[in-house]
Amino acid sequence: MNLDSPISSLPRISPVYQKRLLKLGVKTLHDLFYHFPRRYNDFSQITKIIDLRVGQIATAQGRVIEISNTRTWKKRMTITQAYIQDSTGSIKIIWFNQPYLTKSLKVDDVINVSGRVNLNKDLYFSSPAFEKITSQLRHTGRIVPVYPETAGLSSRYLRYIIQLYLPNAKQLTDWLPAPIKRSQRLLDLCPAIVQVHFPASLKNANQARRRLAFEELFLLQTFVLSQKIQRLKERSLAISFNKELIQSAVAKLPFKLTLSQKKAAWEIFQDLAKDQPMNRLLEGDVGSGKTVVAAMAALENAKAGHQTAFMAPTEILAKQHYNTLRGLLDDFDVKIGLITGGDKKVNYEKSKKNSGLDSLFIIHNSSIVVGTHALIQEKISFKNLTLAIVDEQHRFGVAQRAALQKNIIASPDGLPKTIPHLLSMTATPIPRSLALTLYGDLDLSLLTEMPKGRQKVLTHLVPPIKRTAAYNFIRQQIKQGRQAFVVCPRIEVAEDSSLRAERSNPADSNKNMGLLRPKFTPMNIGAPRNDAPTEVKAAKAEYEKLAKNIFPDLKIALLHGRIKSKEKDKIMADFNTNKIDILVATSVIEVGLDIPNATIMMIEGAERFGLAQLHQLRGRVGRGAHQSYCLLFTDSAAAQTQERLKIMTTCSDGFKLAEQDLQLRGPGEFFGTSQSGLPNLPMGSLIDLIMIKQARSEAAKILQADPELKIYPLLKNQLQKFQNNIHLE
Ligand code: ADP
Ligand code: MG
Repeated sequence: MNLDSPISSLPRISPVYQKRLLKLGVKTLHDLFYHFPRRYNDFSQITKIIDLRVGQIATAQGRVIEISNTRTWKKRMTITQAYIQDSTGSIKIIWFNQPYLTKSLKVDDVINVSGRVNLNKDLYFSSPAFEKITSQLRHTGRIVPVYPETAGLSSRYLRYIIQLYLPNAKQLTDWLPAPIKRSQRLLDLCPAIVQVHFPASLKNANQARRRLAFEELFLLQTFVLSQKIQRLKERSLAISFNKELIQSAVAKLPFKLTLSQKKAAWEIFQDLAKDQPMNRLLEGDVGSGKTVVAAMAALENAKAGHQTAFMAPTEILAKQHYNTLRGLLDDFDVKIGLITGGDKKVNYEKSKKNSGLDSLFIIHNSSIVVGTHALIQEKISFKNLTLAIVDEQHRFGVAQRAALQKNIIASPDGLPKTIPHLLSMTATPIPRSLALTLYGDLDLSLLTEMPKGRQKVLTHLVPPIKRTAAYNFIRQQIKQGRQAFVVCPRIEVAEDSSLRAERSNPADSNKNMGLLRPKFTPMNIGAPRNDAPTEVKAAKAEYEKLAKNIFPDLKIALLHGRIKSKEKDKIMADFNTNKIDILVATSVIEVGLDIPNATIMMIEGAERFGLAQLHQLRGRVGRGAHQSYCLLFTDSAAAQTQERLKIMTTCSDGFKLAEQDLQLRGPGEFFGTSQSGLPNLPMGSLIDLIMIKQARSEAAKILQADPELKIYPLLKNQLQKFQNNIHLE
């Protein structure tokens, strides 16, 4: 049996389950071993029945003395009721809608049950995990793994299948160099895999987790550092600082730059002046004014006679940047082009200057070309690209970012081959720890202050009974000439079904469950999101409700990722000129939009967003002179949800929110849901800053001594695989 052969070739996994496993990203036996538990239930202590107490999560062991099904006609449910008995007493157990249980569990079977002890006159277990006592316990009477699940694929099944194949873990290649294992005191791979799934103790589980997290971080750091070594060999064109130009441009701005804008711009100009490629991340909270900083860099580059590509994740945003740049650079005679479009078709701006000509013309005749992914299509090449700017860079995959800088190798006429300088920007404040992990070779410029005169957006968590009042408030604002956004969450199918799966098995339920962690597929780090169909549906339904029942007298429009680009433009233009009062949208509006007259951001299903994401959405308002409001709605009464959302009402610091998010929801959910593509490191190790640093320093040591990794062919091979994955995108 080969670890890389597809799961379809494994005996004992039926086609139905193969499909479900695929949904979890499990394609091979290797993937199965790397499908790590999200957490554990400690069912290792067996409690005597007489000692069970209400509310306790416990394991009891006993002989089945009675088991039978009854049907309740009212609720159309089957209830399986059983009693088990040990030397101290007996206790009732009930399961719902699992009539087949009476086939597998018989009187006189000795079983373990693990779960919460409830009280209804007498104590009983409700839907506990259970298993017959065999030599190898899986679900009870031990530390039990709880996995990321999907519809029809429970932790119970995963435990079964993983335990079945675990002996094959011996075949795993332990590519982590031995000296590192020694100095970091890490387990060997096989025992780590065995212990992460079926740990003998929580301490063992932790050691296993540490080893597996370390290997992932180490590989990532080795990759990042080897990229850096590569890049140090590359050359870029040095663009010397043009003081007069920049001074006159700054003087012409309609506002005064903030100190941090000036500082960031200065750092960028210094980088540009070197003949080594700039690789800088401009990080600043929503509304901190990144665009103008980028515009200054593009202006300088243009006036030096070179081209700048300015890439944004959505069409709406690309067009907005195009217009902003045209406005800001109006006096400087800089030709600006716009290229957007899907995979096949390239749309381009037919401005008066270049009407009727094709996109190639735009590329060659513009000093600044703004665009979406359309910019990195193969057929597009620049004449002399020396600066690439990527806005909302976490929305792009690693390969996409690399493509803009690498695949388009610019060789300005007659000059040696160079690659463009790269300026990435993000409005999602990435906590430093994460930035260090993912973009460990970037230089960082931070915009730490907001432009003067910005008002705080007042945020309220609105209880369901105040919904009408909220609608009245919106109406009031609109009467005063303002505008509102209503955002509906993305609702992922996997998310809902995992809820269902967990609900049927409360012993496995978890306080912060609900969203599945993505598998670590490096190629989708920050991949751009498209609207999920359900998300569109939710927004549509909301739109219809508001338009028909709540605000029939107001002008309401619907915006989502599946609306045709022309229509989208029209909607955005109409919203921009206040011809639309309320814009109902999916999170497509999350990034970058700048509509100063909008003062209300109403968010439905707020619990489905991360705090950082909510902060992004909130950043769509409060951009003008008017007091703005963010109204959060949730149907979830769960104390934890309420608490999490309340943070929004008191905290307006994007970085703090991001850190909170990372701690509360884990890295995979940091940017939203499954598309975030952050590594699925076992159990939150991404926030383990110390480990990140250790991994980084070990990677540096290895690469310094042996840049070609000749001594470590296994590591070299692993790194190659990792790189291939990234470039497969
Ligand atoms: P973000 O950092 O979120 O991309 P933008 O670049 O879109 O922010 O800027 C948000 C708004 O703030 C824009 O309307 C921009 O013109 C304005 N702005 C930028 N810098 C300043 C400043 N120093 N003073 C006042 N307004 C500014
Ligand atoms: Mg922006």
